[in-house]
Amino acid sequence: KSSSKREKTINYFSKEHSSESNRRFEVEQHLQQALNENRFHVEYQPIVDIQSGKLRSLEALLRLNVDDGPISPGEFIPVAEDTGLILPVGEWVLRAVCRQIGTWRPYMGDNPMPVAVNLASEQMGLKNLSSLVLSAIYDNDLRHSQLQLEVTETSLMKNIDRAIQNMEEILRHGVHFSLDDFGTGYSSLSYLQRLPVTKVKLDRAFIQNIDTNKHDRILAKNIINLCHELNKITVAEGIETQSQLDTLRELGCDLGQGYFFSRPLTTEAINERIISNQLIFP
Ligand code: C2E
Ligand code: MG
Ligand code: MG
Ligand code: MG
Repeated sequence: KSSSKREKTINYFSKEHSSESNRRFEVEQHLQQALNENRFHVEYQPIVDIQSGKLRSLEALLRLNVDDGPISPGEFIPVAEDTGLILPVGEWVLRAVCRQIGTWRPYMGDNPMPVAVNLASEQMGLKNLSSLVLSAIYDNDLRHSQLQLEVTETSLMKNIDRAIQNMEEILRHGVHFSLDDFGTGYSSLSYLQRLPVTKVKLDRAFIQNIDTNKHDRILAKNIINLCHELNKITVAEGIETQSQLDTLRELGCDLGQGYFFSRPLTTEAINERIISNQLIFP
């Protein structure tokens, strides 16, 4: 009796396992095809001044649509990381975004707004990361300050020394880094001081209950203050409600990003906003 039960359990798990690996294989095929056929695109989410709602920068977010509909980055980025496809995909994003920034340049006056690109762990380990980044900038005739890069603690951990070396070299050229998803990693506080990051982005998990949960609020308050002590700009991710926003304003957070202000937008939607000078969100 008990052995047949065990058999069932084993079958159940192996079936799960194989359908999961089939899906990963399918996603890998989609990634390869999207690379070959130039089928990726990028959306841009506003990052605003938390007091005024004024647009300060954009975050570039990769999108993949296949015939069955969109596949989320939450699904395809891990597959790209596991298969090594993240390197060509990451380079594609960097070049596509820099090309896009170039087309916005004429509309942006003397102080063009920066656009941030997410970098994956494998990219942070590249010996030639800085030449990749700088060539994307040169090829599109950008100012270095127009591009920013986002890294997570996890993306730095694989080879922390190489990662920091890359960051310092790129920063020397005027391209600034943000520490993404802060608060979800392990050694958060001790590393913060060591990392050459200009901004710290507080993870959405932190922000979610900030208006209702006293502990979350105290934690956020102390992290914001610590970041300010360390001369870093704070960005709250995933702001969805007025009440979260009110709390973050009170805590003195600098910048905000989230559906309350705006979802990630197509280039066309950003163009319209820029041309009609509607640069206050929501
Ligand atoms: P991330 O870099 O932390 O990006 C923020 C994610 O939060 C985005 O999800 C964005 O759409 C979502 N978001 C923004 N505001 C809200 C909100 O108010 N509520 C909720 N529920 N979500 C919000 P997305 O676009 O699905 O991307 C997920 C993750 O995939 C990103 O997290 C990033 O880690 C990764 N990713 C996206 N594009 C790239 C890329 O070009 N390269 C790399 N390496 N990773 C990328
Ligand atoms: Mg990010
Ligand atoms: Mg994030
Ligand atoms: Mg995230």
